[in-house]
Amino acid sequence: MKYKNVLKFGGTSVGTARRVQTVAGLISRESPVVVVLSAMTGTTNALVEIANHLYRGERQDALAAIQRLEAAYAIVTGELYFENEIAQQAEEFLLATFAGLRSFVPGDFHPLQEKAIVATGEIISTHLMFYYLQEQEIPVTLLPALDFMRVDKDGEPDYFYIKQNLDRLLDEPDVAPLVITQGFICRDAAGEINNLKRGGSDYSAAIIGSVLGVDEIQIWTDVDGVRDNDPRYVPNTRPARLLSFDEAAELAYFGAKILHPSSILPAKRANIPVRLKNTLNPADEGTLVTAESPASDFKAVAAKDGITVIKIKSSNMLLAYGFVRKVFEVFETWKTPIDTIVTSEVAISLTIDDTSHLEQITAELERYGTIEIEHDLSIICVVGDFRPGRPGVVARVLQALGDIPPRVISYGASEHSVSLLVKRVEKRHALVALGEELFTK
Ligand code: ADP
Ligand code: ASP
Ligand code: MG
Repeated sequence: MKYKNVLKFGGTSVGTARRVQTVAGLISRESPVVVVLSAMTGTTNALVEIANHLYRGERQDALAAIQRLEAAYAIVTGELYFENEIAQQAEEFLLATFAGLRSFVPGDFHPLQEKAIVATGEIISTHLMFYYLQEQEIPVTLLPALDFMRVDKDGEPDYFYIKQNLDRLLDEPDVAPLVITQGFICRDAAGEINNLKRGGSDYSAAIIGSVLGVDEIQIWTDVDGVRDNDPRYVPNTRPARLLSFDEAAELAYFGAKILHPSSILPAKRANIPVRLKNTLNPADEGTLVTAESPASDFKAVAAKDGITVIKIKSSNMLLAYGFVRKVFEVFETWKTPIDTIVTSEVAISLTIDDTSHLEQITAELERYGTIEIEHDLSIICVVGDFRPGRPGVVARVLQALGDIPPRVISYGASEHSVSLLVKRVEKRHALVALGEELFTK
């Protein structure tokens, strides 16, 4: 069967019994589609907390947290189902699932168990939806993501394996036009349970959509699509209706939580439009992300915290070649991606957000010059039309920042973005100031 679209619903979209019912109504009208669900809101955090307790040997705390989560689901099932038989099936499923969680409590805790625990959230939400659709007599197939979603040894989606298995499973007889699967969870190259990192259900949907070659990948969430600024910090944001893949990817990578950082890549690769919609307000057109989008001076701003800047100063750099390569090799050795780079004749400043190997990286870099490190910065990314030869556009960005001094500015590499590094404590102020100058005048 040809599936028209992939629809992904995030945690708040399936966060209560009422919302599950709303989503059920919505998806049953859209068939043939593949629906990707996140865990109900708060569940993944609760599961991470349980795993952390077990990691620290706090068994009683883990049991108490499992108990609280189980009680929360008892309320959901109480409200969700009308038919006794279906309610009983759901209760039995939850009983077995929570017994599974409790089985991790005794014995030594292994890091692999953390992944299995955290995967439970999506398994629960998809089952609860599946039972509800059955109660409504809507034909539906529940497809376990662990049967087809896999990453390779570098943590990248194994597209060949995913396509082969998804095609095979969807080709089986009796597969309904409405298919439900879990977002976020996958297997690793060794076949163990893993995940696509926090917020990864968007990525699951994009991967599935790209291998199935659907018409559209839809990300349904709790806002009217992508806003021109971060609604968590800035009041009165406006919609960004049309974005290109590159613009959306920059926003996602630099902190727009509405999209997982990697989720645009598979869509761009297969040239499939991504539409962002609001489950609570389906009439709103949302945001459409496609290969091309009309240029405008400024489209949106996003910010990412937890940035560290590393500065390498060396007079050996003067007129030398091969210096930058040596510096980059250090980051490659420690598998640490660099976000932003600026260089002068005698210094390089670069930013990273993964500091797990910072000590080793610094030790190796000291061979090449004096090192300065500053933590707790934020990258602000302004997406717009920054093609060369457009006077005044960058000036307006800097002007908007007013008295907030940017620590690093990266301009000239991307034609559709400028990144600025500011102290984290100045981020909110910077986002508000940019919003006022760039989007209201
Ligand atoms: P879901 O659970 O549906 O995946 P998320 O919480 O992951 O939802 O993403 C939606 C949230 O992203 C919004 O509620 C909003 O607070 C946040 N967000 C951050 N930046 C933006 C932006 N530029 N546009 C829209 N939402 C944004
Ligand atoms: N449930 C996962 C998380 O909370 C994945 C997702 O919501 O996309 O991170
Ligand atoms: Mg999300």
